[in-house]
Parts: sequence; C-alpha cells; structure tokens
Amino acid sequence: MRAARARLIGGGGADHAAPEDDTMLASRMNLVTLREDPADAEIASHRLLVRGGYLHKSGAGLYLYGPLMQRTLNKVRAIVADEMARAGALEVTMPIMQEQALWERSGRWATYQASRTMLTVKDRNDQVFGLAPTAEEVVTDYAGTVVSSYKQLPVTFFQQHTKFRDEIRPRFGLMRVKEFIMMDAYSFHDSTESLDETYRAMRVAYLRAFGRLGLEAVAVEADSGAIGGSGSHEFMVAAAVGEDTIVYNNQSGYGANVERAQGVIPAAPAWPDAPATATLVHTPAVGAIEDVMRFLVANGHPSAAAAHGLKCVLFIVGTASANHPVAAFVRGDREVNEVKFTNTVTRALGERGPVLALRAMTPDEVRAATGAEPGFAGPGAGLKVTVAVADPTLEGRPLIAGANRTDHHLVGFVLGRDAIPGLVIDDITRITVGDACPRSGLPLSEQRGIEVGHIFKLGTKYSAAMKAEFMAKDGTRQPFVMGCYGIGSSRVVAAAVEQHHDADGIRWPMAIAPYQAVVVPAGKPGDTAVESAAKGIYDGLLAQGVEVILDDRDAKPGVKFKDWDLVGIPLRIVVGKALAEGNVEFKPRGGEVRLVPVAEAVAVVAGAVNEQLSASLARAAAVR
Ligand code: ATP
Ligand code: MG
Repeated sequence: MRAARARLIGGGGADHAAPEDDTMLASRMNLVTLREDPADAEIASHRLLVRGGYLHKSGAGLYLYGPLMQRTLNKVRAIVADEMARAGALEVTMPIMQEQALWERSGRWATYQASRTMLTVKDRNDQVFGLAPTAEEVVTDYAGTVVSSYKQLPVTFFQQHTKFRDEIRPRFGLMRVKEFIMMDAYSFHDSTESLDETYRAMRVAYLRAFGRLGLEAVAVEADSGAIGGSGSHEFMVAAAVGEDTIVYNNQSGYGANVERAQGVIPAAPAWPDAPATATLVHTPAVGAIEDVMRFLVANGHPSAAAAHGLKCVLFIVGTASANHPVAAFVRGDREVNEVKFTNTVTRALGERGPVLALRAMTPDEVRAATGAEPGFAGPGAGLKVTVAVADPTLEGRPLIAGANRTDHHLVGFVLGRDAIPGLVIDDITRITVGDACPRSGLPLSEQRGIEVGHIFKLGTKYSAAMKAEFMAKDGTRQPFVMGCYGIGSSRVVAAAVEQHHDADGIRWPMAIAPYQAVVVPAGKPGDTAVESAAKGIYDGLLAQGVEVILDDRDAKPGVKFKDWDLVGIPLRIVVGKALAEGNVEFKPRGGEVRLVPVAEAVAVVAGAVNEQLSASLARAAAVR
C-alpha cells in the first residue's frame, strides 16, 4: 500500500522539493495576483490565468508562461507523453525552423504561403525558413531516411514542441495564439490496416490522457478536407465559449463537428399549385427569401414557403494561382455549410485547386456574376461562375429562384430542367438542431466545443510526394501509409480552466494543479504555536511527497484565501483559532470546511491527494 501511495503522490511529474527547500514558501514564489480582470479577456480561462499570475501578455497572441503555468504545463506534458509512450510512440524533437526546400517537396510551401498561415524567417544568407505550424514534412523526411524496411513498421514518432501559426485573429488567451505548444505525433505503416490499428490506439491514448487530465472530452467526426479524406476525429471539450459546434445524438452515439456533420433534413412541404414551367415574376425590391415569400403569398402564390425557395450564396474562392466566382444553392430555409462547400469546389476544380480561401462576393462582384442587383441571383441563364453547387434537397421539385435580373424571380424553377449546364449536386447544407441523426433517425442536438486534439489518417499524401519509401515484404519499394495526431497541450490548460472554475477562481483537477495543497497560518502576529503547527504540517506533507505551499506571507488571512481560491490550489489547511482545541481547518477548493485534529492533518491531505489522483487514473482505465 505504501509503495503505491508513494508513486501516486506528486502526481504529474516534477520531483518534490526536499523539506529544507524554501521554494514552496509563498513569500518566495513571486506570487502576483490581480483583483481586476484584464480588459482584453473575454473568457474565464483567459481572465483567471492572467489574474492568477499564470500568464503575462508579451505581445498580441504571445504569452509568457509564469512559474505556476509552467508547473501545470509540465504536468499536462508529462501525462500526454506518458500516454503516447504507453501507445508505443517514440519521443523526438524536431527543429522549429523548417527549410523551404523541404516544404517544396510536399507541395505545401505554396499553399501555406497563400493562406499566410506560416511565419517565415530568413537567415544571413537569405535562405528562407518556415516556422513549424506542423511537422509532416520534417518527420516524413526523417522516416524516409531511418526506416528502410517493413520490419521496422509500424512506428510512431511524437514531440511536444513550439508551433507557430499566423492566426488571423489570435484571441481568448491560450486558446488561439500565434505561438503554442502542441503534441504532434506521426505514424508510419505498410498497410491501411496497420494505420487503422494505430489510429484506434491513438484514440484510446487521447481519451485516457484527457481522462487523467480531468477533461471531459469526446471524439467527434471531423472534416478531413477534400484531399486525403480517409478519416479524422477531433476531441472536443464541451464549453459555451468553444469556437467549434458539435452536432450529436446521445442515444446513437453519433457526434460530428458541424463542419462535416451529416443528417437527414425533413422534406419540404408539398407545393401543389406551383406553376408547371418556370415563370418570370416581377418582385420589385424584394431580395431576401422571407420578403420574397411574403410578397408572393400576397400576390397570387398563397402557398409559397421558404422551403420552396432556392437560396443562392455567391462567393469568391482563392486558389494558389487565381480567384474564381462560385455559387452555392441550398433550400430557402437552410444555411450553406462553407466547409462542405469548399471541399466540393476543390473537388470540382481538380488540377486548378485546391481552394485556399473563401469569402462572400462584394455587391460589385455579384453584379458582374449575375448582371443584376444583389438579391436576384439564381442557377438559371445569366449566371457566370466557375463552379455552381446545388444541395440534393433542391432536386426534382419546383422552386422559387432568383432570375439573374433585377427585381425578378422565377417561380416553378426545376434544377434538372432550367439550371445552367455543369451544375454540381452535392451535400452543402449546414445540419442543425432537429435534423435526423444519420445513424438512428433521432433528432440531433448541438453544443459548443473547444477542440483540444485531432487525429487524422493521411494515407500516402506526404510519403508519395516526398518519395519517402520502404522495402515491402514482396521486395518492392512503397510509400509509407501515414497517420498524424495532435494535442494542443497549451490549449488543454485553458480548456481545463473553462471546465473547472467558479466565481472565486480556478478549481484545478488534482492531476494538473501547480501545487496540490496550501497551508495557511492564520494566527495573531507572533503566535508561535500557530506558526510551528503550520510549519510541522507543511514539513510532514513535503515528507509525504505532497506538493504543498506554506503561506508565510505577511498578509491578512482573507487576502491569502482569496489568492489561493483564484490560483486554484485543490486543498487548503488553515491553522488558526481551532488550534486551541487541537484542530486545524481542512477545506477542499469549492467544498466545505472540516475540522481535523492537528496530528491527522498530514494524513487527511495526503489521503485526499491520493484519492483524487487515483480517480483520474481510474477514468483513464475505464476508456475502451
Ligand atoms: P483550429 O481548428 O482550432 O484552428 P486546427 O484544426 O488548425 O485547430 P490542428 O492542426 O489539428 O489544429 O492542431 C492540433 C491541435 O493544436 C488542435 O486540436 C488545437 O488543440 C491546437 N491548436 C491549433 N491551433 C492553435 C492555436 N492557434 N493556439 C493554440 N492551440 C492551437
Ligand atoms: Mg483540427
């Protein structure tokens, strides 16, 4: 029992200090907390991590990790590394500066330059480097060199290292920054079956890691872009402030990022009195779907409804070499899913793609593409776009569509009969609450989520382009089948705060708390009995391997309590008034105060630390 206890306690990694060491004295920790929220902080994790002294804003989207943050991050990294190693992955460190020539070999230099995601630097010889947004090229080059035979496969390499991304809008503290820590892993295989096996193992490793970290995370189907596309899952932490939307049904277990979610859309109501041919109707100054329907209902089409409408959304897509006008058509009462649409357009552009950027047309661009004022675009004659895509929900029935003529609509428009040639039919509708689950037919729900990880089947995209090959069993040379896997180690810290906080501050899960406990002497100044009892408990806890702080600061107890609540230390011992009866106060963060005999204080705190760390390991063990 004792051995198990010794192993558990101390939790995430860092060796505890020796009892003589004063690094866990609050007076020596450079603890600086803020009473006020920083002006630019919109979400709890950003506010609390800055106020608690975890983060210092060093520039836009750039943070310095303070001593508390470093301890928590070390624990996150240790748990993630532990689970990756358990899944058989080998830790490496790759350079952050990556040669342009390497990225030319995969063909991604141009796309990353065009999307401007990659920051670049020049050395003194004017050689250009990209700062790692990810590391497929580097690791594929490495595997191509060190892995020569199928006998070495499968193999997975991982690192936890700094990544740079020139985000359009850094925000929300650690959630979206220009410089962050990512665990990125890459697996190499001789077959897709072998990849599938590692992919499954990674899914389990991720769920185990998140379980240990105290994060409630679910794996959902994710968009894998138009290329590759053999499969990808994101790991989402449910949170109202999440930037992603998850569509799910609890009974069937279906879950997907809305970017890729599929579902069955309820049929549009029948429209028996639709005209048999496309009829041009004068709709003066009414462009928005609801206004058009109101107008038509009042003017001879009493049963016209939004679901009979065809919504036309016009975009400009940018590829590496050109901009193209494109059109998306969905049912009048639905929205375009821009990710699905982008993938469809990329497929349609073929060699001319992929799409790197998408934006709405300006009014002038709409006029150029339709010959009409905005509001009257449609899939019939007069539309000049490179690619036009219609959702299947629009097929085979009469519709109300813009006529590409100012102040006019076509009523009774049928795609197969009246649309311009070359129309692509594909699912581009955004799935929404109440649509039917693709697995069970039951209604779908929606929730916001924070993406903390992503796993991805790459296939041979990089290995084929970069000629990274191995000798197969049959003696032929073949490109590696690959997978890649990422966890936002620094974003995980923010996500944990989003899930674990209250009005007073952070409530760290034990496994990633910067310190596990704090002892606060709360006697009158010069009360040596209080001071020596507090020091005794502190020393006892250190000897047990508990990461404990002694708050020796010259401050009022109330101020100290506020600080520790904000900082989020899970367990607190207060040595004060109750000492006269031989007791101290024991208070778990967010819980009730309990009186504990002085002599038992060490055992109670150490027991609580062990109990909570065991519970986090049990959550990991329960992952299937
Ligand atoms: P997002 O959709 O949030 O931009 P992504 O899909 O670009 O993320 P990946 O390339 O899958 O991200 O990277 C793996 C992980 O790295 C993500 O799951 C996320 O946790 C983290 N991450 C990505 N971008 C950032 C960022 N700018 N700041 C902090 N963490 C990030
Ligand atoms: Mg992702």
